[in-house]
Amino acid sequence: MESREAIRKELKDVLSALRARLIWDREMEIPLPFMISGKRNASKSEPVLITRTLEEVRAKLGDCKRCHLSLLRTNIVFGEGNPRAKLVFVGEAPGADEDRQGRPFVGKAGQLLTRIINAMGLKRDDVYICNVLKCRPPGNRSPDPKEIEKCEPFLFDQLSVLKPKVICALGSIAARTILRNDAPITILRGRFHYFQGIKVMPTFHPAYLLRNQAAKKLVWEDMKLIMEELKE
Ligand code: URA
Repeated sequence: MESREAIRKELKDVLSALRARLIWDREMEIPLPFMISGKRNASKSEPVLITRTLEEVRAKLGDCKRCHLSLLRTNIVFGEGNPRAKLVFVGEAPGADEDRQGRPFVGKAGQLLTRIINAMGLKRDDVYICNVLKCRPPGNRSPDPKEIEKCEPFLFDQLSVLKPKVICALGSIAARTILRNDAPITILRGRFHYFQGIKVMPTFHPAYLLRNQAAKKLVWEDMKLIMEELKE
């Protein structure tokens, strides 16, 4: 069996090698993994660009034609709000109203989200709101995995630039995409999870609340946990 001393020395060597590498990467301006666009699903043909601002993320998205949803959209719905927001809401995908206006959560579900934000003592301008998909799936169907794969790098870039204190994942698509966890939203909600060190609260999607009044109480419980977190 190796002696404690040998293990200690090995750990020390590993740590100093890691330290040297981090210093080297910093000096060479090599981005940390969370700064690399689409790291978790980087397509080989997509150049790796470091994005430091939301404008840069938007520019990289460009007039996106990475999937067939581009053929059907009226507007890309990139996201909007305070670039220094402590709280970011992530939904699923734009609906008809959002597609028409190019803004997230402006339809019926959006109006409910705005009321939730206001009930938290905040305004829409205080937070940032975006979606997993930036283009509307036809007939408001659920995003398919290929569409998510193409679009999620831009969400991850947005989150990496924003670095909020809390991300609120609205519905199972957002929660699954951000957390890489396929558990039902009923299991995930009600406690914090983590994305790149940022607290993530999954909760029910406002569109679900429009059909299920009873779930509003549970969402409010989740919002209270977020408000507590934002206080600190
Ligand atoms: N539903 C979403 O998930 N996002 C929107 O922007 C609107 C409705």
